[in-house]
Amino acid sequence: MSIGWNFDNTYQKLSSDFYSRVEPMPAEKPKLTLLNTRLAKELGLDFSDADPADLASLFTGNRLPDGAQPISQAYAGHQFGHFTMLGDGRAIVIGEHLSPDNKRFDIQFKGSGRTPYSRSGDGRATLYSMLREYLISEALYHLRIPASGSLAVAETGMPVYRETVHPGAVLTRVASSHIRFGTFEFAARFLSLEQRLELLNYTISRHYPDLADHDNQALELLKRVAEKHLNLVTEWMRVGFIHGVMNTDNMSISGESIDFGPCAFMNGFNPATAFSSVDMNKRYAFSNQPGIAQWNLAIFAGTLLPFIDNDEEKARQAAQDVISAFEPRFRETWYRMMGNKLGFQHVGPSETEQIDRLISWMEKTEVDYTNTFLIIANCDRKPAHFKTDEEFDACHKEWTELINRDHDGLEEARKQMAESNPIVIPRNHLVEEALTEASADGNFSKFHSLLDTLSKPYQKEWKTEDLQQVPAGFDEEYKTYCGT
Ligand code: AMP
Ligand code: MG
Repeated sequence: MSIGWNFDNTYQKLSSDFYSRVEPMPAEKPKLTLLNTRLAKELGLDFSDADPADLASLFTGNRLPDGAQPISQAYAGHQFGHFTMLGDGRAIVIGEHLSPDNKRFDIQFKGSGRTPYSRSGDGRATLYSMLREYLISEALYHLRIPASGSLAVAETGMPVYRETVHPGAVLTRVASSHIRFGTFEFAARFLSLEQRLELLNYTISRHYPDLADHDNQALELLKRVAEKHLNLVTEWMRVGFIHGVMNTDNMSISGESIDFGPCAFMNGFNPATAFSSVDMNKRYAFSNQPGIAQWNLAIFAGTLLPFIDNDEEKARQAAQDVISAFEPRFRETWYRMMGNKLGFQHVGPSETEQIDRLISWMEKTEVDYTNTFLIIANCDRKPAHFKTDEEFDACHKEWTELINRDHDGLEEARKQMAESNPIVIPRNHLVEEALTEASADGNFSKFHSLLDTLSKPYQKEWKTEDLQQVPAGFDEEYKTYCGT
């Protein structure tokens, strides 16, 4: 039986400045480490009859499937606020695969060697960081948050030199595209107006085809992308996710989470939480994410101005209106999301007050964000390690009254809350433990067991023991790293 690849490569029909043709670096001792059968099925791919050695060759890039035409994409971006030329320094899109339901996906290798955009980098990736991306992308999928997927991890059998020597690996990443805010910034800075229009038209036809007949496509694109990112950040904040490196080159036009290398999850509620070792000023801290999304959108908007209006002042004003609307729209969306977490069917002044009170209590006590919502719904199952106080009790009493008075009662609220409040999230200490054992010792038992737990985050029946407790002091010391 054939695997089912169905490549139809369109990105390389853009002018050649948008990409470079490259071949993956050959792997010396290819070995397939992980294969995502759930995602494979979604893509209409079947690897069950394939020979393991062939799969190892496939997923390290040693033997590309028919129809693959590997390219690396050019892009720029604002990193921590500063403009830089970037591009896929260690990634190669081998092609666009059409699934049986006619959805288009980039199939990308990450860690497959140097490209013309590598600058001083080696183009390689460590097994540790590719396993990390695999685990987190699966977790995000099951949490129902738009994100790139991970189809496979394969080891190259070659060392990767960082502070220490690591096993090298290639991740096969799947995304609805890798067009970034930074792709538009690259075109705006270095290419002609015709080429910029080419990218705009391509993006609209690939991601927002219903805008094709609109009389201001560029402005509508900006509105759509703003709406996608507003919803994405709200969803991240629903589960305590901190992307970690919200540079404009890591922001996808499709509104999926991508390039979340140093991401982590907030346990104790502290809006200033940031784990990334390179984020010294906590620019990308938990509660800064909406403001940064808006900042990034303003940069994206700047690249669209000539296509919004011939009159620069009018174009600027129209774009500014979209950017200014972000803040009130975000507030509204965020309160609605918090309302869902608290079982409210509508969010009026009493619900808003209740949400604000809870947030301020969580902030003061730095109580576990995930567990708090489970406890609110099921106070009878509160474990000893979950500390509450008089303020919480008063808040909870008012919440119960509100639910019974203005909503459909406790049972209905609990059902609604169960949809929005995960029981398990990727706890940083468990992620580290699983990754370290897998990458350093080749022992994948904790990794697979964590993957399995993370595949059922909203399980309705849970026991008090299921409430995860983070070892004291772990998060205070915790640091994550990008691009390792
Ligand atoms: P990231 O922080 O992973 O989004 O990467 C930022 C930029 O650095 C991108 O242009 C990457 O392609 C590039 N990059 C990261 N790691 C490497 C590496 N090992 N070799 C070459 N380029 C890299
Ligand atoms: Mg990146």
